[in-house]
Amino acid sequence: MADFDVIVIGGGPAGYVAAIRCAQLGLKTALVERWLNKTGQPALGGTCLNVGCIPSKALLESSEIFETLDKQGKQHGIKATSLEPDVPQMIKRKDQVVAELTGGIAGLIKANGIEWLRGQGLLRPGRVVDLTDLKGKQSNHSAEHVILATGSRPIELPAAPLAGERIVDSSGALDWESVPKSVCVIGAGVIGLELGSVWRRLGAKVTTLEALDTFLPAVDGQIAREALRQFQQQGLDIRLGARMTATKLNKSSISIDYTDAAGAHKLRVERLIVAVGRTPNSESLAAPEVELLLDERGFVHVDEQCETNIPGVYAIGDLVRGPMLAHKGSEEGAAVAQRIAGQDFHVNYACIPNVIYTHPEISWVGKTEEEVKAEATDYSIGLFPFAASGRAKAMEDSVGLVKVITCATTDKILGVHIIGPHSSEIIGQGVMAMEFDATSEDLAQIVFAHPTLSEALHEAALGAEGRAIHIPNRKR
Ligand code: FAD
Ligand code: NAD
Repeated sequence: MADFDVIVIGGGPAGYVAAIRCAQLGLKTALVERWLNKTGQPALGGTCLNVGCIPSKALLESSEIFETLDKQGKQHGIKATSLEPDVPQMIKRKDQVVAELTGGIAGLIKANGIEWLRGQGLLRPGRVVDLTDLKGKQSNHSAEHVILATGSRPIELPAAPLAGERIVDSSGALDWESVPKSVCVIGAGVIGLELGSVWRRLGAKVTTLEALDTFLPAVDGQIAREALRQFQQQGLDIRLGARMTATKLNKSSISIDYTDAAGAHKLRVERLIVAVGRTPNSESLAAPEVELLLDERGFVHVDEQCETNIPGVYAIGDLVRGPMLAHKGSEEGAAVAQRIAGQDFHVNYACIPNVIYTHPEISWVGKTEEEVKAEATDYSIGLFPFAASGRAKAMEDSVGLVKVITCATTDKILGVHIIGPHSSEIIGQGVMAMEFDATSEDLAQIVFAHPTLSEALHEAALGAEGRAIHIPNRKR
């Protein structure tokens, strides 16, 4: 008989959710996690809680409060004689938030009767997991089922090797204790924009080099164009089609060589953030005899219900295909647990929300206008600008718009795209509408509280029907 019903390797949002759901379903479960936090203590929560979603949002929040008071205080009638960021306190608060949340997960693991095996796991044939604990001691543990959830790590660029506090990846950029005068960010993706925003708001001159000619290619084109305009107005210097070729560490600066359509250029900055994507932690996860199948980019190959090529071994989260998002991994974790317990696996991959937590926030679900066009679907669009939203005006925060894309024949909602204040909180309503196969007529008939930012979604749905109230309707 195996030691456990399920062993989960990796305690990030995919793995710890899988473990909790397995335990809830009555399965004897162990969770293998090796993470040591900044103070050298074992910690759960993975990238998301320790160096990802949560700490980045903590710093985005602090820096946004600072910028709002600094730039809009007077307008709101708030006088302050001097305002300056206390960066060590911001970092300390961020670390406290992380410590509370990771401690909370450890509490949940214990409360659910899950055994936390602290150390590095390696899958062996026959669903045996070798554990090298934090003191280097070896043991092995067998299970009926194994769930691989070892996540991902930042991609490194040989031309910009990490160098202490000066050349950092996303984790390093969450720990600077002072504001650099100038920062270069390589990559105008989600991390580059979020962390670039943090340091710009606090006073750094931020230049972002993006290799692609297109800004945010996965985002609806209209929304991406508006985002680029807003970021440039804020002072983020985003250079598209710019490929970094070399870096040199000088005594107190970094020289960066890059090329674009106009030729070769040099840039000199105090610090550099490399944010060019993430790669799955799949290489030292299974012994070669297991013959775990990976795809050409190193992601563990899985079927539509997250089972690998090895029967009884599943893989979830950043380790497998699909968007590298905490909520996607968590849903896969819960779904695999249910599958193991003989219940339904349910993850609707067509309905996963995306958010970029800049200001304004960018959020979307479903298809972009470009995708709908490429499919030759006959579609309608409803648009509503936050400039016409009473709540946004009252907040002094009225840039951006909501865009609802519907099928012109069935009126079914195909996509919701938002750039604007707190759009991360509005998009959930778009997700819910799409999950329930709603039409724009369905959304139009729902009563939304006034004054709220969500009314913009209501008005955009009305707009798709040609009957928005607070803006002139386009001729249909
Ligand atoms: P991870 O969170 O990476 O967890 C994997 C865990 O496995 C780690 O704890 C690791 O220590 C452990 N592990 C690896 N190998 C082994 C082994 N052999 N033995 C034992 N343990 C092992 N996503 C969002 O949805 N929203 C956001 O706002 C967001 N912001 C982000 C901001 C930043 C700066 C970054 C870097 C990422 C952000 N993400 C965000 C992405 C999100 O963090 C990941 O999608 C998510 O953490 C993936 O979850 P996971 O459980 O698959 O992997
Ligand atoms: P990304 O894929 O979003 O962006 C990386 C960018 O770097 C791309 O635009 C790419 O073209 C560019 N790039 C690559 N090589 C380059 C080079 N040599 N020179 C210049 N530009 C180059 O990756 P990321 O921003 O590192 O984020 C990694 C993952 O983490 C994302 O997939 C995302 O899903 C996740 N994440 C999500 C959130 C969120 O949900 N809010 C926040 C942060 C991270």
